[in-house]
Amino acid sequence: MCHEGSPRPPGEPQGAWGKRGGPRRVSNVNLDSAGRPDKNWAGNIAFAAPDFYRPAAVSELRAVVARARQVRVLATGHSFNDMADSPGAQVSLAGLPPEVEVDSANSLVRVAAGLSYAGLAPRLDAKGFALRNMASLPHISVAGACATATHGSGAANQNLAAAITALEFVTADGDIVEFRRGDDSFPGAVVHLGGLGVVTRLVLEVVPAFGISQRVYEDLPLEVLDDHFADIMASGYSVSLFTDWRAPRLTQVWIKQRAGDGSSAPPAAITEAPWFTAPPAPAARNPVPGLPPDTCTQQLGVPGPWFERLPHFRPEFTPSAGDELQSEYLLPATRAVPAVRALSQISDRLAPVLRICEVRMIAADDLWLSPCYRQDSVAFHFTWMPDTAAVLPVVTLMEQRLAPFGARPHWGKIFTTSAADLGSRYDRLPDFLDLMNHYDPAGKFRNAYTARYLGR
Ligand SMILES: Cc1cc2nc3c(=O)[nH]c(=O)nc-3n(C[C@H](O)[C@H](O)[C@H](O)COP(=O)(O)OP(=O)(O)OC[C@H]3O[C@@H](n4cnc5c(N)ncnc54)[C@H](O)[C@@H]3O)c2cc1C
Repeated sequence: MCHEGSPRPPGEPQGAWGKRGGPRRVSNVNLDSAGRPDKNWAGNIAFAAPDFYRPAAVSELRAVVARARQVRVLATGHSFNDMADSPGAQVSLAGLPPEVEVDSANSLVRVAAGLSYAGLAPRLDAKGFALRNMASLPHISVAGACATATHGSGAANQNLAAAITALEFVTADGDIVEFRRGDDSFPGAVVHLGGLGVVTRLVLEVVPAFGISQRVYEDLPLEVLDDHFADIMASGYSVSLFTDWRAPRLTQVWIKQRAGDGSSAPPAAITEAPWFTAPPAPAARNPVPGLPPDTCTQQLGVPGPWFERLPHFRPEFTPSAGDELQSEYLLPATRAVPAVRALSQISDRLAPVLRICEVRMIAADDLWLSPCYRQDSVAFHFTWMPDTAAVLPVVTLMEQRLAPFGARPHWGKIFTTSAADLGSRYDRLPDFLDLMNHYDPAGKFRNAYTARYLGR
């Protein structure tokens, strides 16, 4: 049984709350026979949390948190590791009212933490506003994405969390604490990995709604990156390079170009002429070679609203042929080309376990645990075959090859980087640990993930 707005009193027998039964995959989540999430979206993590709550009001959430000995939020479960699991309770915010309050005068929107980008974007667009950027998938929750510094692409686009101007937490004793931009600890609280409390509301900066068109180009030799990486990444508002590492070429280049931004001529990047020798795809494409394109957002240069072009995948489809795993590493954009060469040297190890690799750029920010902290970054993303045992040794090998570049792993994906190495790559990690100690002195929001990677 799933708890709709009725937190389980401490000590009540587990049986009254339903046992985790055989998994049943519905839409984007894995639900057990009692209708509660049993595994993450990818199915590689079986949640061990014995209790699950789905409060219908913030007051109920506060009571759940205050009474729990251990608690973590499970949002849409799209992370590929155990960060959303808990040794005690998991709590879903999907039952809270899905508030979206636009403050037009100040170009801000206040959003309920349980909302997904797919739920938020059309409501924002209807009011004439847009988010600056989106990730490849709109199904993820705003709060969950920001907690892990999720990003899209674009040399001038920061990660999604950088849009936050304020956020409200329920802290360990059930109190509400608000962090606002300008507060000393605000940059530490925005990318929080679930370790400071339960975020209930976020305030995001918005911009006037805009149009985008995207075009896909195919078969660009990898060597073109040697001299043109920066030009290529600057040739659109958002650019994604794809390779399967089976040959020294980019299988696809996706260029998303803003429309109506003042320039009268169509940008060269989205014409039908070859681009850096790469011909435009004659039909819509899926980034994973061989998969049908119908799950993907519209291409071929057809203009459309920002939220129907910035993600690669459409909200109405489950965006994958089946299970997959993901890893991603971010490093200084200035090291992109040597990092591509380092990965080329292990392409024979990458290719057999890989569906597709995507290379993106993200602008620097000031958020303590952001992988883009104070550095314009290039991100190397890997969508793996769903075979953890085969993938993990390759992940470790790749980390060794990317270590000289100070690569920071995506917090929500699969990585084997040690706590010591993470500590050496995040200057402000000690300050974040102080925040954890301050707001959660008894360790209510800690779990195996925080113990492994943060030493807490
Ligand atoms: C198909 C697919 C495509 C993806 N594409 C991208 C991409 O383009 N770019 C990218 O950067 N990442 C991408 N990701 C990764 C994904 O964005 C992150 O893993 C993200 O954190 C998932 O969000 P979620 O809402 O599912 O959060 P969950 O996985 O449910 O939770 C993530 C973490 O946030 C915490 N958390 C969530 N909500 C709250 C809250 N309200 N209060 C406190 N803590 C909270 C959880 O406890 C957990 O620790 C993709 C993932 C998938 C499956």
